Amino acid sequence: MYGIFSYGNSNARVGWKHGDHILDLEVVSLLGYFDDLSIDSSVFSQSVLNDFIALGKPAHQAIHQQIKELVDSGSTAFSGIHDQVFIHESRTQMHLPVRIGDYTDFYAGIHHAENVGRMFRPNGDPLLANYRHLPVAYHGRASSIVVSGTPIRRPNGQFPGADKQPVFGPTNALDFELELALIIGKNNPLGEPIPVDEAEDYIFGIALFNDWSARDIQRWEYQPLGPFLGKNFASSMSAWVLPFDELAPFRIAGMEQEPSPMPYLKNNKPGSFDIELAVWLQTFDGEDICISRTNARYLYWSFAQMIAHHTVGGCNLRIGDVLATGTISGPISGSYGSLLELSWNGERPLHLSHTESRTFLADGDTVTLKGWGFSAGIRVDLGDVTGKVHS
Ligand code: CA
Repeated sequence: MYGIFSYGNSNARVGWKHGDHILDLEVVSLLGYFDDLSIDSSVFSQSVLNDFIALGKPAHQAIHQQIKELVDSGSTAFSGIHDQVFIHESRTQMHLPVRIGDYTDFYAGIHHAENVGRMFRPNGDPLLANYRHLPVAYHGRASSIVVSGTPIRRPNGQFPGADKQPVFGPTNALDFELELALIIGKNNPLGEPIPVDEAEDYIFGIALFNDWSARDIQRWEYQPLGPFLGKNFASSMSAWVLPFDELAPFRIAGMEQEPSPMPYLKNNKPGSFDIELAVWLQTFDGEDICISRTNARYLYWSFAQMIAHHTVGGCNLRIGDVLATGTISGPISGSYGSLLELSWNGERPLHLSHTESRTFLADGDTVTLKGWGFSAGIRVDLGDVTGKVHS
């Protein structure tokens, strides 16, 4: 996985995660290992991945091949200077890996959408009429996306009080949302939609993403224009971005789409991925407990369909843009990707120990999302994204 790191007094630079070490690609480049690839080596000395991403897929594949060979031959390739090339994570500081121009949040987890429908519209179909026809989304806020480990301040806002009249104060319903983020790897010109069967060429990589949410603020404000302050105070992104090609061994057919999508959303290539996902919650003085296990296979809409729909009207995506999937929940209660669902809007507190339970997050709680794939002897690790809540 690629990320941006610094250590000591160094500048931020591009690194490749290898176990609990980081391969310093600026140093690797200075040592000449990329000289045969005809690339601008200054991309490895940048404080964001955007210029590196702009090199394009053929360059990324060549760089990746070189990295694999270096990692495999590790100590022999760098005999005598191993510790200057492989930096132990404990010595480093991680930075937000991309400069994010725009952030879009989808709603592609169908079990999440159904659960929310059952909670707030108990009569009738839990899914709204549009759900199976298009990937629902809203335009989010890019400026408040922070790197994993950044503390999360409980936001203030308006929400309904005991007598249904609005009150102002710190949210009483702070939640996480387990999501995956796509990092866009290629620009499309304004006015030129990206065809669904070419859409994956526009993905640089994926990262774990926690779209923190204030449910009481969200509920009061969201009609008619959608989420605003209930979502824009913070989203946390993993420091590490997994190149999209690394997902290939985990590709699966995915969910049946009925009714059949319109032609511009119809893709014959399987677009789901068997990626295991988990949520861990650690209270201020408690143990770190796994509170949910789910899988990226529960996304109704594929990454390619999200991109095709996003651009079908001519919207231009740019390198570094983030498209998040929306909350990924499985079909049963232990597999839900938010506390809203795990506590069923506060009706069923989640018991963490003999003395502690949660409906929503308390100050001092730390939420960690993890992701990994394992198939036919191949394992891929998405790392984690973590954040601690404070008042
Ligand atoms: Ca979300």
